[in-house]
Amino acid sequence: MDAAEFRCRGKEMVDYIADYLEKIEEQSVYPDVEPGYLHHLIPTEAPLEPEGFGEIMQDVEKVIMPGITHWHSPRFFAYFPTGSSYPALLADMLCSGIGCIGFSWAASPACTELETVMLDWLGKMLQLPECFLAGTHGRGGGVIQSTASEATLVSLLAARCKAVRWVQAEDATRSEADILSKLVAYTSEQAHSSVERAALIGAVLMRKVPTDDNYAVREETLKKMVEEDKAAGLIPFYFCATLGTTPSCAFDCIPELGPLCNRENIWMHIDAAYAGSAFICPEFRPLLNGVEYADSFNFNPHKWLLINFDCSAMWVKERADIIGAFKMEPLYLKHENQESGLVTDYRHWQIPLGRRFRSLKMWFVFRMYGIKGMQAHIRKQVGLAKEFESLVRADKRFEICAEVVLGLVCFRLKGSNELNQNLLKKITKSREIHLVPCQLSGLFVLRFAICARKTESRHIQQAWRHITQLAFELLQEQPH
Ligand SMILES: *Cc1c(COP(=O)(O)O)cnc(C)c1O
Repeated sequence: MDAAEFRCRGKEMVDYIADYLEKIEEQSVYPDVEPGYLHHLIPTEAPLEPEGFGEIMQDVEKVIMPGITHWHSPRFFAYFPTGSSYPALLADMLCSGIGCIGFSWAASPACTELETVMLDWLGKMLQLPECFLAGTHGRGGGVIQSTASEATLVSLLAARCKAVRWVQAEDATRSEADILSKLVAYTSEQAHSSVERAALIGAVLMRKVPTDDNYAVREETLKKMVEEDKAAGLIPFYFCATLGTTPSCAFDCIPELGPLCNRENIWMHIDAAYAGSAFICPEFRPLLNGVEYADSFNFNPHKWLLINFDCSAMWVKERADIIGAFKMEPLYLKHENQESGLVTDYRHWQIPLGRRFRSLKMWFVFRMYGIKGMQAHIRKQVGLAKEFESLVRADKRFEICAEVVLGLVCFRLKGSNELNQNLLKKITKSREIHLVPCQLSGLFVLRFAICARKTESRHIQQAWRHITQLAFELLQEQPH
């Protein structure tokens, strides 16, 4: 493909994407394929001779599209949203076009510097304490990670490194191996599985903290576990709080947990992967109160802030803590300017070396929506969740299972888990809408998350009619 063909095919591709997104509602939200379906539709080996672009696009229709779950369909209510907007799509195109790998300042100064400024812009939108921002006299700063899972892992590894240092500072005779074997981390029993996985990869013990009636971790409970563990000779060093848990969007009580962690030398990381975007609205910002006690904070603009995957924003209070944990300096990555201390080399802040120019997506979206536009998006989606909640509450056969704070509604048919499992089976089989379940207090619960940017009230009303119709059929089939 030469530049002339690229110009032509590129314009066609933009049209293809715009058509896809404009007509997405007409498709079944969930694909009708069996595992292994694709294997039968394409050759078993790569072609020896070059093929034409036209043939490939025909196969996109024939092979790929039938196997797509349409995450941006307004009939998609599963998991949590994944961001998408036209400015972000275009910025991603530019990012691929420039195609730089911004691991150090010198590897592409704009890539590093725009990221630093965008994380400060975003940090200010969230009213993060100044100590987390780079453009202040503090020692903090922000970085784009690929995912919340990586941010959690990075924070855990930094905390592990710091813990070894402070324990040895108190008792120089203790070996690193001895300390590492005694470290214990904590997180909510409602935390995302990636948190437990971080401990697995970081090779430290992690204990699950039980939650209260609102599925939130409270200070009392954590304090008791920390005291027990210290008495048993363990070294508590890390707590991952969740703001907006994946099952029910619950909020750990960080204003009371933070001081406990600070007193006990426990690194507090906050995972607000989904809920974080809402904190740009003043009315939801109180949910972030207590962040001032945290050592690190992360959320995913690629979930709810109109930015396409991947873009996970992470801030630390002491950038030396994470840089210190991962620093490697081979000669081929050194550059003249790093000695000045004025430049950021983001490779020290993350696990991989390579990194894309992801801050372009933030810059385009922040400017084309403005803070007001993004706030309007969040408010509209919370409003749609409240609308769905009132439909559920008005129907005596159903119950709401957790407080609806943002864009997630947890609900179920009153009755057995089996009944609700059967309802979800019917919903999935119909391919009209897409939902996933969760478990709360041993109950099988359906999660209804407002996801697509183009979701409107009529989609909520249609979804509810559909659910109640299936529930009606199901209850008719039940033996009395
Ligand atoms: C979605 C989610 C994650 C995982 O996000 P990734 O960016 O895919 O790693 C982690 N924690 C919570 C609370 C989430 O909702």
